[in-house]
Amino acid sequence: MIKIPLLKDHHNHFFTYSALNNAIDLFNVNAKDIALKTISEQQNPKMTIAKGWFDTYYNFAQTDINRFPPLIIINNSLHKYLFNKAAAEIIKLDFPEWVKNNNNQNWVEKNLMQIISYISRFYKFNKDDYETALNILLAKGVYFASDMFVTDTAIIDFLSENSQNKRTEIWTSPNLFPKLNNKQKSVCKGVKIFTDGALGAYTAAIKNYKINSNPILTHTNTELSQKIEQLLDFNTGIAIHCIGDIAIEQTITCLENHKNRLGKYPVRLEHAQFITKKQAFKAKDLGLTLSMQPNFNMDSIIYSDRLDKEYCKANNPFRMLIDDASFIPGKDLILGSDGMPTGIEGCIQQSIFPPIPEQKLSLDEFVSAYCIDNTKYGHIEIEIDQLKKKIISRIIFKNNLQY
Ligand SMILES: [Zn+2]
Repeated sequence: MIKIPLLKDHHNHFFTYSALNNAIDLFNVNAKDIALKTISEQQNPKMTIAKGWFDTYYNFAQTDINRFPPLIIINNSLHKYLFNKAAAEIIKLDFPEWVKNNNNQNWVEKNLMQIISYISRFYKFNKDDYETALNILLAKGVYFASDMFVTDTAIIDFLSENSQNKRTEIWTSPNLFPKLNNKQKSVCKGVKIFTDGALGAYTAAIKNYKINSNPILTHTNTELSQKIEQLLDFNTGIAIHCIGDIAIEQTITCLENHKNRLGKYPVRLEHAQFITKKQAFKAKDLGLTLSMQPNFNMDSIIYSDRLDKEYCKANNPFRMLIDDASFIPGKDLILGSDGMPTGIEGCIQQSIFPPIPEQKLSLDEFVSAYCIDNTKYGHIEIEIDQLKKKIISRIIFKNNLQY
């Protein structure tokens, strides 16, 4: 048995997921009839929200969902949304563009964070839910979780008034950041932008998919370069979502245009799942941090319906990043979950015994890139069965921890 510290999840959506803790969870559902039964048993007459839907397994027709009271269904990737007629009537009142454009994936990708923020606001932020959510985190082996996109100023104000908070950090939108006062700005680690979509919605910008797809770059090169220039003026961190090799290439090219302005604040590439060796060397050269998710190693299996063999193999190439491009776990290679799912169970097995050998991390590398630096508040016991290639983990933690 080996003891490791609790996790520090560098890329999560802690507040959004906390709000959505109350939503129906379809994560473990793999058939439409079960999904519909689950929704009908747990519906809320005002607005029912269901998350964790995998369109790899099943799809909904409008006729399936129109018989329910207001209902929004969120794809597990958070990049695809469905709502019924009754929900459309409500959404129309304060977010009519979404109703008009929900079938336009291009628009959805560009307005993703507005959509997620809008949905999570059906649940008002309060301190009790926050504390409950922190306890849920602990039970999953996570001491610290970031939220990559907070636009609810109630949360920002709460954090700036509770400066002892050591268990979360937040990033915000480039639209909101300049409007914040200095106190509010000081609790934001930085701002986050998107350059492509996601594999779950067939919109991550990779060169080719096996099946019908819609790879999306949310900016032209000129637009992205200008955007980066504007973000550098904010004097804060910058997190750039880029999953596909095309989006990573574009991001690196645009960052190179501002090379002499980089280095003062962290610039992170989020996901970087299909980063090539050439891109990795350039990213290292520019001093970028790669913020990656070993739980997405599994995409090589679950998305083999859409990814060809070469892409399945190229997903999360941790060995190349560490051994060849000299990224250092915990320094410029940091790990998180994106909340899909949050916790030790979803990542340790895939890190030590990944589906693709290139994805393997040693336990030391895992701890450096994914754990806090002490065991004051608890720890995780790990048993590695080399023969069965299985990991058993047990979480030991102190109850009722203060935040
Ligand atoms: Zn994310």
